[in-house]
Amino acid sequence: MTEKLHIVGGGMAGSEAAWQAAQMGVDVVIHEMRPKVETFAHRTGSLAEMVCSNSFRSDDDEQNAVGLLHWEMRAANGLIMSSADAHRLPAGGALAVDRDPFAETVTNRLKSHPRVSVTEEEVIDLPEHGHWIFSTGPLTSPALGEAIAKATGADSLAFFDAIAPIAYAESIDMNVAWRQSRYDKGDTEEERTAYINCPMTRAEYEAFIDALLAADKTEFHEGETAGYFDGCLPIEVMAERGRETLRHGPMKPVGLTNPHKPDEKPYAVVQLRRDNALGTLYNIVGFQTKMKYGAQTEVFRMIPGLGEARFARLGGIHRNTFLNSPTLLDEQMRLRSRRHIRFAGQITGVEGYVESAAMGLLAGRLAAAEILERPLPPVPQDSAMGALIHHITGGADAKTFQPMNVNFGLFRPVDGLKGGRRGRKDRYKAYTDRAKQAWAAWLDSCAETGVEPA
Ligand SMILES: Cc1cc2nc3c(=O)[nH]c(=O)nc-3n(C[C@H](O)[C@H](O)[C@H](O)COP(=O)(O)OP(=O)(O)OC[C@H]3O[C@@H](n4cnc5c(N)ncnc54)[C@H](O)[C@@H]3O)c2cc1C
Repeated sequence: MTEKLHIVGGGMAGSEAAWQAAQMGVDVVIHEMRPKVETFAHRTGSLAEMVCSNSFRSDDDEQNAVGLLHWEMRAANGLIMSSADAHRLPAGGALAVDRDPFAETVTNRLKSHPRVSVTEEEVIDLPEHGHWIFSTGPLTSPALGEAIAKATGADSLAFFDAIAPIAYAESIDMNVAWRQSRYDKGDTEEERTAYINCPMTRAEYEAFIDALLAADKTEFHEGETAGYFDGCLPIEVMAERGRETLRHGPMKPVGLTNPHKPDEKPYAVVQLRRDNALGTLYNIVGFQTKMKYGAQTEVFRMIPGLGEARFARLGGIHRNTFLNSPTLLDEQMRLRSRRHIRFAGQITGVEGYVESAAMGLLAGRLAAAEILERPLPPVPQDSAMGALIHHITGGADAKTFQPMNVNFGLFRPVDGLKGGRRGRKDRYKAYTDRAKQAWAAWLDSCAETGVEPA
């Protein structure tokens, strides 16, 4: 008899993980605290409840990274995707979902599965033995959050994401911006040119501050704010404290010389820092914000050099429990210090329903394969699944790690294709073709090990 797999949290990730493992022939126990213990965002006791929007975003598997993730999950017999497809609502190119019947379908299919049982309980400790996946999400219960922080080190678990916007490097105008670290600090040329700098004149700075103050902002949910103001002030709050505050904070113009205009001292400088090992993504340093998404794009494109910028993700500040996965998790999503425990879903530092379910799919398969003692080949980095797992378990910079949506910036570039806006369509098609091939080959090799889900 094989050992059981315990999954804590039956949300997007936990539900998919349970399904994959059960289909592979492993008995699964889902420990879900709702409806006994509630969160401020969930409304029901169903598994896989969609807490806010009812969209799985773009369903375009040729030109969109999240659409590609849909494709990969469908190819892997994913429960979340098949239930979403069964309750699809008209929404143009997006996959919108009728949320209540969707969650009921996921719940019923899991509860009626002969290998799955669900217990209603809050887990408040990391167990010493057994096979476990923790997929307790952005609203992990406080008691469990404390236990995880104790086991991993307090600095390794965040309770808020203070996200600065992330731009695609290729969309930054380097005829305006330049690469330089403040005071040319660093031992290597790479370190001395680690930042991209965008200069502002006084008039540009004043206009930027006006736009920031006038922009639409989102409000915190009730009960969401406890413990938030430690070191992550939104830029608009800094601007409210005084028009010059940002110029003396994240936008200070010191230690930098603009090679395009060496005789002109910028009044302020916006800095962007490399966000991934590939160098395809850059975050705007210190620019966490509660501005609404539409307003952010408008305001950030006022920054010289970012006039045409495209953003892999926009900024935000939310209640969100997540691990510093690049330091804590191995390539199999196991806690390095306790390899019988895996993490999955949003708590690993991915962002979104689809990405969370995707990481559940992988964790479920990897855990089941381990229990069955039939290890799977490494997840291919060129697939959307592989790009995500690689990012959270090593590709991202651990020092600035913040939750991430799937996007083409996480993919290794395809050689020989045109850069910039013009080549985008061909480039994205090349990424998605390559990904599908890699993912299909991986699924085939899973089947060869004899552990493919039924
Ligand atoms: C307010 C809010 C709005 C969001 N809006 C969107 C959106 O519109 N679109 C989008 O794509 N993403 C959104 N997200 C982000 C995120 O993708 C979703 O929260 C997603 O559901 C995460 O999946 P998950 O499986 O990791 O966590 P969840 O789906 O939250 O599942 C975690 C489960 O674990 C349970 N749990 C927690 N602690 C314990 C414990 N100690 N013991 C037992 N069970 C426990 C919870 O009850 C929950 O059922 C939002 C997040 C929040 C907080």
